[in-house]
This record gives sequence, structure tokens and C-alpha cells, in this order.
Amino acid sequence: MKFVDEFRDPALGRRVLARIAAQVEALGATAQAPVRIMEVCGGHTHAIFRYGLNGVLPEALMLVHGPGCPVCVLPMGRVDDAVALARQPGVILASFGDALRVPGSGPSLMQARAAGADVRTVYAPADALALAREHPERPVVFFALGFETTAPATALTLLQAEAEGVENLFVFSNHITIVPTLRALLENPELRLHGFVGPGHVSAVIGTRPYAFVAERYGVPLVVSGFEPLDLLQSIAMVLQQRIDGVARVENQYIRVVGEGGNPQALAAMAAVFEARPSFEWRGLGLIPSSGLQLTARFARFDAERRFAVPGQRAADPRACQCGRVLIGAIQPRDCKVFGTACTPETPIGACMVSAEGACAAEYRYGGPR
Ligand code: SF4
Repeated sequence: MKFVDEFRDPALGRRVLARIAAQVEALGATAQAPVRIMEVCGGHTHAIFRYGLNGVLPEALMLVHGPGCPVCVLPMGRVDDAVALARQPGVILASFGDALRVPGSGPSLMQARAAGADVRTVYAPADALALAREHPERPVVFFALGFETTAPATALTLLQAEAEGVENLFVFSNHITIVPTLRALLENPELRLHGFVGPGHVSAVIGTRPYAFVAERYGVPLVVSGFEPLDLLQSIAMVLQQRIDGVARVENQYIRVVGEGGNPQALAAMAAVFEARPSFEWRGLGLIPSSGLQLTARFARFDAERRFAVPGQRAADPRACQCGRVLIGAIQPRDCKVFGTACTPETPIGACMVSAEGACAAEYRYGGPR
């Protein structure tokens, strides 16, 4: 298949792996003091485990699985807020399927549904708009999640709802943005990263230009990558080559999809519908300034947080869960004491075990239980 088979060529993969091994050696890295490269996209985390890349890379190279899975970084308080919205009289709460099982401090959305709340699974924000058209007498709240990858679809749906004069669609926005997240990671003294494998899907929307500060201000290489095994291996080799050459640049390995300026239509839709919140809470990272998106004044009438009473409480993660440490790469999933025992995809304790893009779920699925 075009654009797939050539990026899964085993012979080529072995050649890139040999190059990576030589680069790591040239950098003098060891298993005790490895080169640390973070992938900040949940799709990359999934692909790394799916293709077993973590098992074939040199021990002196550590892939740190960053906070790129939107479901995983959703704090428990926001799940509690979504449940509170679902319990409002007459409300239909529309949500992506993987968000239904994320544990809150109380019941998950799936448990709320079992207890009688009208929670529907949707595959796109447009499905929530269709529900609103179908049930004009009932408020439909869309539980909006995700980075710039999914925010344009929410924005376009609200532009459509505005054009149609739909009055019963509301959005509970938990959209987040990548640039403030990268800045927070770079400011974290615990991380000590040598480079980033940059997100592919987000970059298709925002382009490569917004990452310039990573190289210019922090001196850290960033290579935007595709999702096939050779994409990822080549991107890792490109980061390592920058380290060897003593330079820090933003490079684009995913040129077949990502351009420098991103997608102008998607950016325009987002700019019309969303603005930055003063701050937004992330699981594992705490409050990050300007990292969340809320609706602009023009779309305030669609804002579920203005229309309904939302508790807005903050809730600490369960004591056993170390998702926060996993999400900043301070520990690997298997280092968590309950990985694969008390915490499995069937009985998740933390959000990292829920979504297929979560580091714990990916490690469990492809690496097996403890
Ligand atoms: S294994 Fe479960 S409890 Fe431990 S960090 Fe991962 S999701 Fe959290």
C-alpha cells in the first residue's frame, strides 16, 4: 500500500537501527546515562509499542512517553464535571468512547450511564450536532477533548450550528494546545530531555513554525514525525544527528503530510471559535498557563460551562496511580506498582491505562502484563 509498505521495510529498518546505534555510541551515552528523547504524541506512543521499537533500540537510548494522549492528561475534576453535566435534567451528553471509562473521583461516565444518565457515544462533534437536531427539546452537551488535532472539528461544528441557528447544542471544552505544554516540559528540571519527536497530527494543523522556540530558546532539537516504524526511526536518527552536530533545529520528517504553515482553514475556524483560557489543569503537570481552549464571546451561548452549573472542583489522583509520573516521563509504565496487577485495561485505576494512546495501555497491550 502506497505510503505504508515502504515505511515498514524491515531491511531499511535494520539499516536505520544500525545508524542509531552508531549515533548513540558517538554521543557516549550509556544505559545508566542514556540519551532521552520524548515523543509528545499519543499516536507515536502507540506506534512505538505496537511495532516493538522500544525493544530494538539501544539500551543507551530512552524513549520518554510524554503527555500526548488527551484522555490521559484529563484531570479527575474535569471527569467529575462531565458526570455532573450528564446528570442535569434532560441533558444528553455526547462523548468519544474512550473518555467514557476514564476514572473520576466518583463514577466514570460509563458508570453514570449505567445509573441512568443519558450518555451517548459519538465518533465526531458533527454527531452531537445531529443529536441536537434530532432532539430539539433537549440540551445536548458535547464533551470536547483533544489537542489541535480535534479542535478544528469542534470549531467547524459550532460554526455550522451557528449558521443553522441551533440553540440546544453546548460544548464542554477540554481542548488543549501543544505549545504551552512543550514549554512546561522544557521548564521541568526533572526531565532533562535531549530532543523531541514532534507530533504528526497536531503539526498537520499548526505547521512546524510554532516550534521554533524549542530550538532557539531551549537549544533542544525537535523533529516532526510520521507514524510508521521507519518514520519514527528516521526521526530519532535526525534528532541524534543534531546532537552529534551540536545544533538544535526544528526539522520535518513528515513532509508528506505536514507543511511549515499548517492548515489555514483549520486555524481560521479555531481562531473564530476558541481563545486561550488563563490556565488549564493537566494530570501530572498541574496548571499550565494558556494551555486550554474556551469558547470566544461570539460562541458563549454554546458554552456548557456558562449554561449549566459545573462544580469545577479539583480532585487528586488515587494514591496508587502514578500516571502523573508516567506522563512527564519520570517513570516508565512498568515501574508503577499496580501495572498489570490491580491496573489493567479492563480495570483501569489511572487514565493512562484507558486510551489506546496511553503509555500504560500500549505497554500492557503489546508488552504483556507484568
Ligand atoms: S499502571 Fe495504572 S495506576 Fe499505574 S500509572 Fe499506569 S494507569 Fe496509573
